[in-house]
Amino acid sequence: MKRILKIVKTNRIKKIIDAEKIAAGEVVDRPVNVVKELIENSIDAQASEIRVIVKKAGKSLIQVIDNGFGIPSEDIDMAFERHTSSKIRSIKDLENLSTLGFRGEALASIAAVSRVEIISRVEFEEKGVHLLIEGGKIIDKKKISCPIGVNIQVKNLFYNLPARQKFLKTDATELGHITDILQRYSLAHPELHFIYRHNNLDILNCPASNDLRTTVFHIYGKKIAKFMEPFDYSDKDDNFKLSGLLGHPQIAKKNRSYSSLFINQRYIISDVLFRAVNEAYEGTLMVSKYPFFIVFLELDPYVIDFNVHPKKLHVRFEKEDAIYNKVYNVIRSIVEDRFIIKEAKYLSTELEDFIPKEEKFLKNLIQISPKEELESENTTQKQLIPEKSVQLSLEDKDLSHQKVLPESFLRGKYILSKNFPKLRLISHTGQLSNKTYVVLEGINENNEEGLFILDQHAASERVNKERFLEAYETSKISVQKLVSPLKIDVSPSEKIFLEPNLHEIRKLGFNFDLFGGNTFILREIPIVMGKLPKLNIIKEIISDISKIGKDKSFKEVREEIINYLSCHKSIRGGDDLTLKDIRNLLIELAHCKDSYHCAHGRPTLRFFSYKELDKLFKRIV
Ligand code: ADP
Ligand code: MG
Repeated sequence: MKRILKIVKTNRIKKIIDAEKIAAGEVVDRPVNVVKELIENSIDAQASEIRVIVKKAGKSLIQVIDNGFGIPSEDIDMAFERHTSSKIRSIKDLENLSTLGFRGEALASIAAVSRVEIISRVEFEEKGVHLLIEGGKIIDKKKISCPIGVNIQVKNLFYNLPARQKFLKTDATELGHITDILQRYSLAHPELHFIYRHNNLDILNCPASNDLRTTVFHIYGKKIAKFMEPFDYSDKDDNFKLSGLLGHPQIAKKNRSYSSLFINQRYIISDVLFRAVNEAYEGTLMVSKYPFFIVFLELDPYVIDFNVHPKKLHVRFEKEDAIYNKVYNVIRSIVEDRFIIKEAKYLSTELEDFIPKEEKFLKNLIQISPKEELESENTTQKQLIPEKSVQLSLEDKDLSHQKVLPESFLRGKYILSKNFPKLRLISHTGQLSNKTYVVLEGINENNEEGLFILDQHAASERVNKERFLEAYETSKISVQKLVSPLKIDVSPSEKIFLEPNLHEIRKLGFNFDLFGGNTFILREIPIVMGKLPKLNIIKEIISDISKIGKDKSFKEVREEIINYLSCHKSIRGGDDLTLKDIRNLLIELAHCKDSYHCAHGRPTLRFFSYKELDKLFKRIV
């Protein structure tokens, strides 16, 4: 306490001499900025507990209560003047600044656009001070009995700026941003106790801890905490320290928001650093997945350009390549050590699955009897699938004697020749070896013959979307009960979106209920998700759904969610298809209302008439 007293006495609030040099920039343009500035002030004031109370997503109230060293009553007026700070005296100080806020304009900017009520006391004063400010003008100041620290309420944000108010997004969106920033600050400061309530609902209660993993547990739940690997690296010669938690590849996410980067304990956004970590995971993640990580970087402030973005989130480095290489190398060696070696085991078990699958693939080829299959279908199907290609599989019947077939046997050997493309015949199913397209020949609606190319994923997505949409519109979504209900821990920001939309989510086939805290219980899922979806797939869908809801209303995103669900279940690029799979897909695609576009509008089937090909080869002009 002696130390704190000294800070208060020596760090009196004064005008910054050359304030005009400070990069101009709006400090406050939405509620989250207010929350951020107030929390930063509390952290700078060495608070150990920070309580954030928000009403109507911060539009009607943002209250921050801390137990820091407070503001002396004689300085409090000045704290609300522009360019005043107890933290720096001149712009030079910015270069080696360690405290968070540095422009001395946060309180002034906030007070200018809201009604502020602040109660504060410092240790050496017996009574505290109570100040009322409206639109930047002090309208009341009196003495009051209160605890040490600051209790500030920011009410009716932008009450005097209707244009700004109009610009604010929905409550869900604004609240999403606030929750996000609170989560990041809790991660940055596990040593502080963060409490966060919205509309009388507890969203986050993250007690002080000296273990980051405990903080992760409070924010993301038990499963995530379990699959995080702690690491700690330091290079004293270079004043470089890298530590934190790296998520196991199995908890990788579909978007970047589960990656947190901190420099000198400040949450930042940096493309270079993100790339360095992301690329260090190479070979361990599926396509379009991002690692879950919390990484703290400590280095000399002079190598960072912190004042690049007015909101101070984006940072730039003087020696970008050097930072990239360092971070990449440290993370890569940890990834190799802890994940890749372990992954090797998974690979060998996958391999066992792989061989029977290959055999099954062959069996399917042989089982197809063209007569039986074709007789049950209508004529358009016959046109789409020329009998020739089906017969091809029959000719290969004797192949079944061979247990494991070399791939070259199925696909044909390359014809090698100097200065000429390496060429071979395509697979029996017509599926190209990138497993994305299927080549077919047939007759189009105008009775022209030619070449068709099918995008297997796009086609499957269209089929699933129409099926699901029809079921949704007629309230006939088939659901399946889970053998045992699943408890799902969500993050506070996910909870905010999920809770008010439970009814809508149920209409989509998810029987989903709040279980308590940040835990939901799932009893039924839509059949479209497949027979036995894995827990992490369900969790991912829920997390993605709540992500969509952050910026839009449920109604707006319903179609997106349906697209998403239909996409999820669909055959993917990279999936091996049997002849039977392809045939079924074509039959279903033919029955769609819009057979030619996927849920996102990409083409499913392209046609090149022989005439076009003839032109291409200059057979005709
Ligand atoms: P800055 O943080 O850049 O100095 P602000 O406008 O955010 O500028 O705050 C102005 C001053 O008010 C700070 O320098 C600090 O002295 C004081 N102050 C603001 N919030 C607190 C708080 N929660 N506890 C103690 N002092 C505070
Ligand atoms: Mg500040």
